[in-house]
Amino acid sequence: MNTHEDDVELGFASLAVRAGQVRTHEGEHAEPIFLTSSFVFANAAEAAARFSAGEGNIYSRFTNPTVRMFQDRLAALEGGESCIATGSGMAAILATCMTLLKSGDHIVSASGVFGSTISLFNLYLSKFGVATTYVPLADPAAWAAAIRPETRLFYLETPSNPLMELADIQALADLAHAHDILLVVDNCFCTPALQQPFKFGADLVIHSGTKYLDGQGRCVGGAVVGDAQRVGKDIFGFLRTAGPSLSPFNAWVFLKGLETLQLRMRAHSAAALQLAQWLETQPAVKQVYYPGLPSHPQHELAKRQQSGFGGIVSFELRGGQPAAWQLIDATRLISITANLGDAKSTITHPATTTHGRLTPAERERAGIRESLVRISVGLEDVADIRQDLERGLRQTA
Ligand SMILES: *Cc1c(COP(=O)(O)O)cnc(C)c1O
Repeated sequence: MNTHEDDVELGFASLAVRAGQVRTHEGEHAEPIFLTSSFVFANAAEAAARFSAGEGNIYSRFTNPTVRMFQDRLAALEGGESCIATGSGMAAILATCMTLLKSGDHIVSASGVFGSTISLFNLYLSKFGVATTYVPLADPAAWAAAIRPETRLFYLETPSNPLMELADIQALADLAHAHDILLVVDNCFCTPALQQPFKFGADLVIHSGTKYLDGQGRCVGGAVVGDAQRVGKDIFGFLRTAGPSLSPFNAWVFLKGLETLQLRMRAHSAAALQLAQWLETQPAVKQVYYPGLPSHPQHELAKRQQSGFGGIVSFELRGGQPAAWQLIDATRLISITANLGDAKSTITHPATTTHGRLTPAERERAGIRESLVRISVGLEDVADIRQDLERGLRQTA
């Protein structure tokens, strides 16, 4: 919901800078941070009216002008009717599930989703009678076979972490809708700058604002985008009651992050592609996983579904885990951390960090080998990132 009617006419870059801003009587140019927990009313009647409508400024667990500006801007960028911001990406997933599911319902999820998402489904939603079946992301037949009469949600991330597999969003949306199922896409890796899942039939889009929306590794937050009823009314109802709300300060950081999102995603993608191409020529490297490479089995789908290939590159080393750790330990510039989407490049060993809690058999099934390294390519000079990796590759070759 943009504040300016003309916003719908604007291109992506313009929306990223302009959508959602509401100027106060002070005439500020930049969006202000409304650090206030509550709002005052002119009189008792206005307070009563606002409370009974449940809309407008009342209390910052419900709504806050800075949070609203971020929500409206992100909704405009995704092409969704409504957006609700949350205190983290996980809170966005929780709010979605708590609102849309009831005991007895069933989720079909891609097996390669974010680790905490799997824990949320398995450890917590299961306690309330919501079961989850996991299927390979890129196998539509497996999704079809997993559908039960009580299936309510399809849940996926594309590209997946860390093997950069893709889902055909349109194919899964068609399958879901034929069975009255909602398709939820976690769009963290691409962001709307590179992929707009609603164009391919997704019903809800999830974000961890913590990653590329912030883009500089500062704040934790999240959002759900979708239609005005499910998101604007139903999920908003859960949020204002249960309270996993986004702080106005974090909303402001994300709001300003959106202004440079497209520029950053293009730069991340260009650097990642260069790096992936170079890694493919390295003798110590066994395989590179990056959708921008013609060697990627879903390269054509990536070109159709995404307007860029993103900033995450994974690769396997011939020397197994010792080589992977040696490469990681030889870096001086790239940060050893599991976070991603930062201006700073980061490197991690998924098998012993993000996917360390899986059993060896589960890891093997997910294709997360000991030899795998994942890089979130930042905004440093590509030559410097390459040099930082070259040192380690020389040692392991
Ligand atoms: C980080 C991440 C999340 C969770 O977000 P938080 O902000 O850490 O709660 C969800 N999905 C994906 C793909 C992520 O990378």
